[in-house]
Amino acid sequence: MASTGTWPPLREELRGIEPYGAPQLDVPVQLNVNENPYAPSAECVADIAAAVADAATSLNRYPDREFTALREALAAYLNTDGGRGVTPDQVWAANGSNEVMLQLLQAFGGPGRCALSFAPTYSMYPEYARDAMTEWVVGHRETDFSLDLDAARALVEERRPAVVLLPSPNNPTGTALPPEAVSMLCEAAGDGIVVVDEAYGEFRRAGTPSALELLDRHRNLVVSRTMSKAFALAGARLGYFAAAREICDAIRVVRLPYHLSAVTQATALAALQHAPELLGNVDALRKERDLTVDWLRAQGLEVADSDANFALFGRFADRHAVWQGLLDRGVLIRETGPDGWLRVSVGTPEEMTAFKDALTDVMKADPVNAQQKDLT
Ligand SMILES: *Cc1c(COP(=O)(O)O)cnc(C)c1O
Repeated sequence: MASTGTWPPLREELRGIEPYGAPQLDVPVQLNVNENPYAPSAECVADIAAAVADAATSLNRYPDREFTALREALAAYLNTDGGRGVTPDQVWAANGSNEVMLQLLQAFGGPGRCALSFAPTYSMYPEYARDAMTEWVVGHRETDFSLDLDAARALVEERRPAVVLLPSPNNPTGTALPPEAVSMLCEAAGDGIVVVDEAYGEFRRAGTPSALELLDRHRNLVVSRTMSKAFALAGARLGYFAAAREICDAIRVVRLPYHLSAVTQATALAALQHAPELLGNVDALRKERDLTVDWLRAQGLEVADSDANFALFGRFADRHAVWQGLLDRGVLIRETGPDGWLRVSVGTPEEMTAFKDALTDVMKADPVNAQQKDLT
């Protein structure tokens, strides 16, 4: 290779780019990456440990490449939460839904094709597109972070994306998509794949349906989920999707050999047997979310309606100063979203009290930076 003048000889479009990732800081109250604050119970831990011990007896062998037992358990779970007869051959899994979505871009994106989403949205999406050499096209959300459906359809029809990424609820805004919007965009996309990223699906408010209900109607629809959020298993790295069998088959072409380790499969399977317990705090977290949104509004702040386990609030004249002020008081939240906004994950009642106390203190101590931006 000819000299590029820089070392190491990174692809040109990767030079100077900071790796993605929220700061991992050891502070008392961590409300920055939308984790579930409740650790698994002692019984669940014991069952996971036993399953992993059993898997360890055959770690000299490669794992089941088709993760058959796990697919069956994931399909069964989906059919308890919006799925209508999802079968194991309609389920695909990988190391987090981030890997699942990268695989979708690797299979369906590529040079000469584009992927599309609507900002503000999850900041990893353009990275999957970049890593899969796929052009990135971004539409925009309304000021209340909903989608203007006519404009969204027009953009899809104009750009003909190979992959449309639609998080519902959206991160970092918490906005859920109505099923009519999903159906309309699936139709507008033609043969393009429409991924509804339901990483926060289990937190949706009562009456908000899952896109899983639409799977029978649209062969290009993919609904992705993760065990990282509601399922309280972020450390295990297990994400998955449900879609037409042909889409699962296509992903096999790009997956790495034996991508899901025997330890991961055993962990996820054991955890799925504890689904009711692991998901048992979802209602409490939803309530805490609603209380947090109400409290923030009562402070005179703007807050996006949320169907997820976090709230986006603002708008601050200097959000970084507010973020730093909270951190100085032992509370880590996320500086993300449009300028002026901050995102807080929903933790335990004790953690939320600490957050509220710290924010009250910061707004008192630093009224200039905490001042609302002009709502124009
Ligand atoms: C957290 C999150 C995910 C899940 O990531 P994992 O890789 O499964 O941990 C996916 N999509 C969005 C929008 C998220 O916020």
